[in-house]
Amino acid sequence: MFAKFDAHVHLDVRPEDDLRRMSLAGIRYALTLSHDPIPARTHDALLGHWEAVRAAAERADEYLIDARVGLGVHPRAIPERGTERALRALEERLSDLDAVGEIGLERATEREVEVFREQLDLAATEDVPVVVHTPRSRDPRVVARTLETIQDSDADPALVVVDHLNERFLNDVLERGLNAGISVQPGKATVEEAVEMVLNHREDADRILINSDASLAPSNVLAVAEVALELERRGFDDVEAVTRDNALQLF
Ligand SMILES: [Zn+2]
Repeated sequence: MFAKFDAHVHLDVRPEDDLRRMSLAGIRYALTLSHDPIPARTHDALLGHWEAVRAAAERADEYLIDARVGLGVHPRAIPERGTERALRALEERLSDLDAVGEIGLERATEREVEVFREQLDLAATEDVPVVVHTPRSRDPRVVARTLETIQDSDADPALVVVDHLNERFLNDVLERGLNAGISVQPGKATVEEAVEMVLNHREDADRILINSDASLAPSNVLAVAEVALELERRGFDDVEAVTRDNALQLF
């Protein structure tokens, strides 16, 4: 059994039992990202959350999971006060981050677009990879604005993962030279849907990343192992690429 990489997870809100189960299933790498578990009304609240994300990565180490860290301002957690200070704090931390994320748009308000764009440009100054959220609604207007904002920014598409995709948007993302994240979580994609998406886009297997997006919402922390097993059963050649190597290369 080969080691797998969960390329989008929120370990700060998952219990140690989950780390143990992930490790037992061979999920030995993870990218744990900042998100919106608390109302980040101020710059200080957001920084406290970032510390929790870092602490979660250290805790994962005890279960032999090599967790990398991504920090950023999530569109549902833009502080009411002190956003500029938060962005400066992100800038100061850039050189020791494995990713900037998750960032992106939820409703595509002008404020969201501005904060998203600024973080894309910041990440580009040090070639830090970026993980981009798309809303659970998959509102086509929001997804389109997300892709436009990336295109207009300084970001190198090869360093950007657009995440939580379904079949409808996978093509758009791959055609633009971006990486595509598939989140196997209730309401996003099932194991079977993820497997079909990978098989339908096998020529782009070097730019597809499977993840659980395990958070406070109902989640399956074993998602990456389940997709790997099913792809192996189907005789797919690039299982390691989509469930480990692409993420190892990026993060
Ligand atoms: Zn997430």
